[in-house]
Amino acid sequence: MSEDAERDEAARKLFAGACDFVAGAASLDAIPKDTLPEFAFVGRSNVGKSSLVNALTGRNALARVSQTPGRTRQINFFNLGGLCLLVDLPGYGYAKVPIPLKLHWQQHLEAYLSSRESLAGVVLLMDIRHPLTDFDRLMLDWAQASRLPIHVLLTKADKLAYGAAKNALLKVRKEILAGWGDVATLQLFSAPKRQGVEEAQLVLAGWLGLLEDGEEEEASGVEG
Ligand code: GDP
Repeated sequence: MSEDAERDEAARKLFAGACDFVAGAASLDAIPKDTLPEFAFVGRSNVGKSSLVNALTGRNALARVSQTPGRTRQINFFNLGGLCLLVDLPGYGYAKVPIPLKLHWQQHLEAYLSSRESLAGVVLLMDIRHPLTDFDRLMLDWAQASRLPIHVLLTKADKLAYGAAKNALLKVRKEILAGWGDVATLQLFSAPKRQGVEEAQLVLAGWLGLLEDGEEEEASGVEG
């Protein structure tokens, strides 16, 4: 098998395995102990986070959980094949939510991000029509300062025509390369079209592979 085929097969296997809800934590005291490597998913509410995790795992695990009242403001943990945890961080609210609520959320997030030893990568979702918000920039800065790989998905790519989506990708890529090219990668994503599912799976499997190999490679820069 060629190296590419082996890599594709490893990614396919990772996401074809079981993906079980482990815990929902309303406070940091309640989060599971650091055990497996963790990949955190973060983005504004409604950006398509549940749809992404469902598309990646081929299940409705996340959607089912978010429909349970009270769970939406928790940090939810899913065990993927006994190999890593996918962590669904609470959506950070619409731009118009009151400041105190924003602050509360930010403290929760910051405490998780800064205390979690097993955090091995961040997936940052941005609506392709509203990319690079202040919050997105903060997350990119934070990942860079923490030397954590961060993969950006421009979601709902199907909302734009093909050419417009490509242009949006190029524009955001240029800015991300200039500011965060040492840690960030980038791609288009559409849940209904299943565009970018395999690409995202490969990135996460790659992060896991790097950890398993014990290699300290730098992220390879922005792709797309
Ligand atoms: P979350 O709040 O970030 O978890 O977002 P959801 O995954 O629940 O999605 C919010 C809304 O956007 C739902 O109505 C989804 O059907 C829709 N949505 C999510 N992803 C896509 C996408 O890629 N394309 C389109 N057109 N709609 C999407």
